[in-house]
Amino acid sequence: MANYLSYIPLGGMGEVTKNLHVYEYDNQILIVDCGLGFANETMIGVDLLLPDSSYLVKAVQQGKKIVGMVITHGHEDHFGALPFILPQLPEFPIYATSFTTAMANAKLSDFQLKPVIKKIEFGQPVEIGPFSCTFIRVTHSVPDTAHIFIKTPVGNFYHGSDFKFDFTPWDGQKADFQAIAKAGMEGVRALMSESLGADRPGHTPSEMTLTEHFRQAIRECHGKFIVTTYSSNVSRLNQVLAVADEMNKYVCFVGRSLMKVKDLARQQGILRLRKEREIRPDQVKKYPEKDVVLFVAGSQGQEDSALMRMVNGLHRDITIGQQDMVVISADPIPGNETSVNSLINELSRMKINVQLNIDDHFHVSGHGSQNDHLLLLSLLRPKQVVPISGDFRHMSAYKELAMGFGYEDHDVLLLSGGQEVTFSQEQARFGQKITLRQVYVDEISGEEVEQYALHDRKRISQEGIVAIIAQIDSEDGSLVEKPEVVARGLSAKEAQDIDKSVSEAISKSFSTQKNIRDWGYIRKQIREIAERRIFQEFKRRPLVFPVVIEV
Ligand SMILES: [Zn+2]
Repeated sequence: MANYLSYIPLGGMGEVTKNLHVYEYDNQILIVDCGLGFANETMIGVDLLLPDSSYLVKAVQQGKKIVGMVITHGHEDHFGALPFILPQLPEFPIYATSFTTAMANAKLSDFQLKPVIKKIEFGQPVEIGPFSCTFIRVTHSVPDTAHIFIKTPVGNFYHGSDFKFDFTPWDGQKADFQAIAKAGMEGVRALMSESLGADRPGHTPSEMTLTEHFRQAIRECHGKFIVTTYSSNVSRLNQVLAVADEMNKYVCFVGRSLMKVKDLARQQGILRLRKEREIRPDQVKKYPEKDVVLFVAGSQGQEDSALMRMVNGLHRDITIGQQDMVVISADPIPGNETSVNSLINELSRMKINVQLNIDDHFHVSGHGSQNDHLLLLSLLRPKQVVPISGDFRHMSAYKELAMGFGYEDHDVLLLSGGQEVTFSQEQARFGQKITLRQVYVDEISGEEVEQYALHDRKRISQEGIVAIIAQIDSEDGSLVEKPEVVARGLSAKEAQDIDKSVSEAISKSFSTQKNIRDWGYIRKQIREIAERRIFQEFKRRPLVFPVVIEV
């Protein structure tokens, strides 16, 4: 039998997202979480990022066994990579608590995969090979969030994924401090702790502090009250629903992700929504504006979100007017600052009353601050600590905090992704450093696009390239003149025909729409129109490259 355990972060180290943590003992592997990362504006043509799973694939080939997986909570950066990673690996049992199971299984079904996640109760240990895992309830921004207490032959490990300590959570489901303290009494060899809020002094405020601000805002709103938050934040939805209910409003959910969570939460019996007060988006127009509270997806300013479509005047059923109030009940996820900013700018330009989250009025973080972390450390008294799920600055802040608490420099381990640490009962040693690739995927096809540059070149070599230069009026987003179409790698005749046909199609489409100033959206639209037209008429798929010039 081995006398050490190996811990290897394959994702979620030096980064907030893409969580995938490996615990390995005697050639048997336990995986904690399997999450996505999100592409930023610089990663053109990429939707999602995945943790690099090649270590796991190789381990299986070498005869190691993946004995199981546990998932801490229902956020995409903790379970969203399942449909991409599971098909690469042999089958093994996967456990999560009730709401997480529902979210993860729904995701697998979306990808036509078997919903294989098994529901486990809090506090009930599950034996996974040599690991005995107990889910401990904590508070976060999605229901049924867990920490995992992992007993192994070399000691007990505590995987402290995303959490905050909310003493008055909206749903009454408090963190199980007794179970955490009991884990501490049994001895914790190492704590892997999230570190996102470690640079924030004090204690993260309770969800309860928001209620009065929502009540006041709804009272002051003369038109439709529109609130946007992270779709999975069920307790936030409940909170606004309760206020809406006490004021006798009708409520409406808009946007696919939000409606999906609404249905799941309702099935789970945790959404406080009276059926007779819910209306569909196409019914909103029939009700007095002041009587309607809308929950709309798109708090991150996503291009294709329901909120962005409303702002751009492209939503089929719902428009936003100057009587309405938009409350952004969320903070930008790191990397989304620019798109959130342009959403706010656009609403302001339309003279819409947009309420941002200033002084924690409409949003409190789901992540702990320094005192939350100190409380966890006090209860657990781990021998050593590994900060996880934060950028390097969060991890360093955590280290400073832990050292202020009394830990020695060598007992707080700052790791980079892929760095193995071997824990024996007494010591921790750095092991191998696994090189992790950046793995990009196309959300629709699920195909890896790590070679996307090559892919583009191949397409250009086979099908040519069409550049479209469109001059757009900066005032109202209209097309200033016929777009210029430049085709290369096509015959002169074809190029001429494509020029005529594509500029006609684009001019026609733009003649019916106005007041769009979201350049990303306009570029995407031009590309789609051109690709569709060129394929329909010429059965060709050149690389279409839109250039939008603001004049
Ligand atoms: Zn989370």
